[in-house]
Amino acid sequence: MRKSFYPLLDLVYPKSCPGCHLPSISICDSCKSFWQQPPISITLRKSQVSDLLVVSVAQYRDEVRAVLLAYKEDGQREAGKVLREALLQARRGISNPSVCAFVPIPSNPKSVRRRGRDFMLDLCNQVAIQSGDQVLSIIKVNRDVQDQSKLSEKERSQNLVGAFDCTPKNLKLLAKFPIILVDDLLTTGATLREAQRALRQRGLIPIGAITAAHTARLVRN
Ligand SMILES: [Zn+2]
Repeated sequence: MRKSFYPLLDLVYPKSCPGCHLPSISICDSCKSFWQQPPISITLRKSQVSDLLVVSVAQYRDEVRAVLLAYKEDGQREAGKVLREALLQARRGISNPSVCAFVPIPSNPKSVRRRGRDFMLDLCNQVAIQSGDQVLSIIKVNRDVQDQSKLSEKERSQNLVGAFDCTPKNLKLLAKFPIILVDDLLTTGATLREAQRALRQRGLIPIGAITAAHTARLVRN
């Protein structure tokens, strides 16, 4: 569970900002501003043969991480609202006016059991209601994978090789739509590349990916 950095303040002011944990009835303006940036495009070069365009909004920092965790681990509504808006903003950055299919990046089944929900699927469904897109959750984790956050860039890629597969259900339906992969955070690109590989194995090529946040290291173009 997320721990507040300011436990005493939490006692005095039960409501705090999910980003900086300072007293606030909702997310504070300063933390909100990190999520209200114009979307940026990042190209994962020669990712699984072809490039993959990723559109993302918030640059990773402590306050952004705290909001991601507040929604991911605690399902906090305010945090969810910010992530939903960021993904909508990123979706607008992919210039495809037709109805697309969101394919959420799956969480490790153990995490889904612990949290009692698949937070990416929940987010995708919320965003799709507003964007008018479809959600087809067809990528599954087919073996045990370690927590990516504790691994180096090289280890992340190795950890995920062959980790995803597509369920046969809805594959034909998915082929009718332009596909957009959806994840919360872009770090090294290893997760999106593995998802792209799993789709390609079924003859499907995504037109791009959207993430709510990204680390600075991939922002070069
Ligand atoms: Zn704040």
